Parts: sequence; structure tokens; C-alpha cells
Amino acid sequence: THFGYKTVAEDDKVSLVANVFHSVAAKYDVMNDLMSFGIHRLWKRFTIDCSAVRSGQKVLDLAGGTGDLTALFSRRVGPTGKVVLADINASMLTVGRDKLRDQGLVDNIEYVQANAEALPFADNSFDIITIAFGLRNVTNKDAALASMFRVLKPGGRLLVLEFSKPQSELLNKAYDFYSFNLLPKMGQLVAGDADSYQYLAESIRMHPDQETLQQMMEQVGFAEVSYHNLTGGIVALHRGYKF
Ligand code: SAM
Repeated sequence: THFGYKTVAEDDKVSLVANVFHSVAAKYDVMNDLMSFGIHRLWKRFTIDCSAVRSGQKVLDLAGGTGDLTALFSRRVGPTGKVVLADINASMLTVGRDKLRDQGLVDNIEYVQANAEALPFADNSFDIITIAFGLRNVTNKDAALASMFRVLKPGGRLLVLEFSKPQSELLNKAYDFYSFNLLPKMGQLVAGDADSYQYLAESIRMHPDQETLQQMMEQVGFAEVSYHNLTGGIVALHRGYKF
């Protein structure tokens, strides 16, 4: 089946995204390593470096899924800090919590099931917010960005790690072939689920490019917004501040 992603109504997108992540949760980490040849680990490390996180800080890892960023942050903020891993999907949260507990990371992590569009936190709560490969799954991205702005402390920063627009035509073509032909096949082979990986390819294609996302962040109030292309723009890291 084809998801017909561009034409589904908003409610349908919510349940579509829910089904995709319930379906991939158990195989999510191994698929990430396979699909990106392990490079997602470098993109995530770069995100942590750009966060300038310090011991004692309060971090929100939004759409945190299986908790890769949460694990890195948890070690950096130490016992006096806190990391909240928030995700809309219970299956992803469960896989994440089990994984982090197995790594002995327990004391400074909280798990919250929440929709990025309406965050259940007080204003000015977090020093740092990250959303990695999450924003493109959110139906109302402007509402989500505004909600992140609200819960960020003045002086705090938001980091958005997301697929973006490859900067060269050649890379763009190779990448399209990879994501629309090879990716669903790998999904079928490894996770027994081609549809979810077809959705992934389509959601990447639909996602706003570097400049558009920068403008969207500025429109909800973020200041000094800039971005850094990674792997030729296949992925970009956007950063903005709340002053
Ligand atoms: N951040 C993790 C990482 O980089 O490995 C997980 C990324 S995974 C591709 C996307 C996550 O976004 C899923 O866990 C999904 O449940 C979550 N998600 C989708 N829509 C969401 C929403 N509206 N609010 C919060 N989380 C959402």
C-alpha cells in the first residue's frame, strides 16, 4: 500500500505517524544504524557539542524516541541536572526507557508522553531543547515551535536536527534513489515493514528546507537563528535562542 501522505487529513496524519512508530519501535535502533551507515551517531554528537550543555542544566529531548540524545545529555548534566525525554508514542518511550536503564542511566531522566504541539510544561522550564528527526512528523510545526519557545528559559537554546535539502544536484539524485528505492526494501528485509520506510522517504521529501525552517523558527520568536549543513545538507542542525 501507499500512504498517500500528501492528501491525508490532519487527523489521519496523527494516526499514521502513531502506527509507523508503534510498528518500527522494536527495530528502530538497528534500522537507524543500517540506514545511515552509523552516521546518525555523528550527527547526534555534533548536536550535543552545539548545545554547549553544562552540568546542572535542565534539558528537554523532544520526540526523543529511543533516547540516544537523552543518554548523551544525561551524562553531561550530571546528578544535579535533569533530562526529560518526551515523545508522543508509548512504544518508542518504552523501548527508550528499557535501553537507558540497561545502560545504568536512571537518576536524572524523566519520561513524559506528550505531543510537541501542546507541551505539558510550565513556561520558561528548560535551558536546552532538542528535537532530532522529530519535527517532520509533527502535523502543526508552527504550533510545536511556538510551544518549544514557550517552555524554553530566556537565554535558552533550541536545536532542531532534521533531514533537509542536499546541497548538490548529484547528491540530491543519489539520495532520492536511495530513499525511494533502497530504503523501503531495507525496511522490508530487516523490519518486515516497507510501508513505514516509504513514509519516512516521503516525509523527508515534504519537510521544509534549510531557509524555510529558519524562517519558521524566527516567526515564532527565536533569535539569532542559524543552521549548519551536515553530510552535504542531507541533514541540517538549526539553532535558535530565546532572549
Ligand atoms: N529523536 C530520536 C532519534 O533521533 O533517534 C527519535 C526520532 S524518531 C525518527 C521520531 C519520533 O518523533 C518518534 O519517536 C515519534 O513517536 C515522535 N513524534 C512524532 N510526532 C510527535 C509529536 N507530535 N510529538 C512528540 N513526538 C512525536
